[in-house]
Amino acid sequence: MVFKVTILGNSAAIPMLNKNTTAQVLQYEQYTFLLDCGEGTQIQILRYKAKSNFKAIFISHLHGDHCFGLVPLLSSMSLNGRKEKLLIIGPKDLKNYIESQLSFTNAYLSFEVEYITPQLENEIVCENEYLEVRAFSLKHRVETYGYVFREKEGPPKFLVEKARALEVPPPLFKLLKKGISVQNIHGTTIYPEQVLGEKKMPCSYAFCTDTAFYPDIVPYIKNATLLYHEATFKQSEVQKCIDTMHSTAMEAANIAQLANVKKLLIGHFSARYFGMEQELVQEAQTIFKNTEYAEQGKTFFVE
Ligand SMILES: [Zn+2]
Repeated sequence: MVFKVTILGNSAAIPMLNKNTTAQVLQYEQYTFLLDCGEGTQIQILRYKAKSNFKAIFISHLHGDHCFGLVPLLSSMSLNGRKEKLLIIGPKDLKNYIESQLSFTNAYLSFEVEYITPQLENEIVCENEYLEVRAFSLKHRVETYGYVFREKEGPPKFLVEKARALEVPPPLFKLLKKGISVQNIHGTTIYPEQVLGEKKMPCSYAFCTDTAFYPDIVPYIKNATLLYHEATFKQSEVQKCIDTMHSTAMEAANIAQLANVKKLLIGHFSARYFGMEQELVQEAQTIFKNTEYAEQGKTFFVE
């Protein structure tokens, strides 16, 4: 099974005409999550046809470029008649932030919200039958959390060649992957055990923004399949990073290397680098080769 990460926005500080502030949609099986919610996120969801039946929303911190889209999104969910309870995970002032805006605008929500604030480092803040999500502190100017979404157990490898040799119609492969028996083109029953191999390593997705260079997080994101790490500046502006508690592209790559992740995504570039995104990627690649830009509108598959 696969995580699907869709980048709805990745700009630092201010939105631009074609570049929104941070928000990502994460999908795994029937579950959909939202990670951060910059201004205009609900429009980005429509633009990129992202799923929006969120089970939970994870907010890294209460700087506007990570949360200004939250109340408008909740309000629209309510106008659309949502009934299902929503989990909102993030800093302790999140509840006040949301409820005061709702109250000033005489708005109410058609659904219950449960607020969760991480209490301990690396604590499980949310889980279901497939996944557990752990939170940990990042190093920024305000209370900020990183999150790791990890499969509880890797699914068994699907042996495609075997399934083909047994003449299973390809549209039925997904049932076999889920452990359901099917019939091949001759009507013979094919059992999952015949086409499933050893269990894969559990996949994981780590989301770390905003933060200064902070190796303390390495144990929590160790061996992640995909790491998103902010990279607000180039190394030549390292002093700005120190002053504002952000990371350079090189520092993000250092964290990826220390944590031995499989792939690194970087974003949250300062507006000064508009059109020069690949320069930051190249800078990161001098330390960690498998780095890619978390480009708005792109979907990344984690498997
Ligand atoms: Zn921030």
